[in-house]
Amino acid sequence: MQLHILASGSTGNAIFIEMGGRKILVDAGISARRIERGLSEVGIPINSLDGVVITHEHSDHIKGIEVLVKRHRMPVYARPATWEGIPCRDKIPLECRRELGDSLDMGAVKVVPFAISHDARDPVGFCFYYQQTKWVVATDLGVITSTVEKALSYADVAILESNHDIQMLQNGPYPQFLKQRIKSRLGHLSNHDAGHILTCTSRPPLMHVFLAHLSQNNNLPSLAENTVKKVLQEGGCAVGDEIILHRTYPDRTVSMIK
Ligand SMILES: [Zn+2]
Ligand SMILES: [Zn+2]
Repeated sequence: MQLHILASGSTGNAIFIEMGGRKILVDAGISARRIERGLSEVGIPINSLDGVVITHEHSDHIKGIEVLVKRHRMPVYARPATWEGIPCRDKIPLECRRELGDSLDMGAVKVVPFAISHDARDPVGFCFYYQQTKWVVATDLGVITSTVEKALSYADVAILESNHDIQMLQNGPYPQFLKQRIKSRLGHLSNHDAGHILTCTSRPPLMHVFLAHLSQNNNLPSLAENTVKKVLQEGGCAVGDEIILHRTYPDRTVSMIK
């Protein structure tokens, strides 16, 4: 199994997952060229991709999709309402446009979308199941709902949003309406809330957590990690033992091979 987070953050997202022989891209929010280069650097031929699953229609999740599909013709799975919100949908060949229902079988891998609270048409996170393994992608979360908590439970690997530091956001340069949007139930998850959900979630003996979708203006990788660590430790969790935290970046690949 392999995980390569090619890019994560407000400027673009693309996550490669290989499980049970299936190669899946979650979002194509960076250019097709960057996806091609990122995958080739980790030894994955782009033509071996089995498909792309899309979380929601915001440009930081879809902006590379048109060129990627034109060049490489692969199925793209998105919720029907999400398709309606993707401006380039008509330029994607019909046979590549697939509607994502309540679950998707890709060989022995089961991909299960779950609803998230975010200001998009029908935004989702994803659970990936293969044999006894569960990996979860949960970013662009305004708030943690019981659905998200359930999705994260017993995940061996979680790619979890840790978008902003509350103080940095409060004191930062964004206009008030944007600060409000980010903090709202339909916005993004703070470092503190990411830590909090991990303390509440039922976990396997060891969980790898990739802190993802960091704001470039209102967060720092070290601050996200330290805040989540502190909240976890206060909640009685042995960080480095029960939970291993990993950083992610907008412009650098982070990998895990199991
Ligand atoms: Zn979004
Ligand atoms: Zn996003």
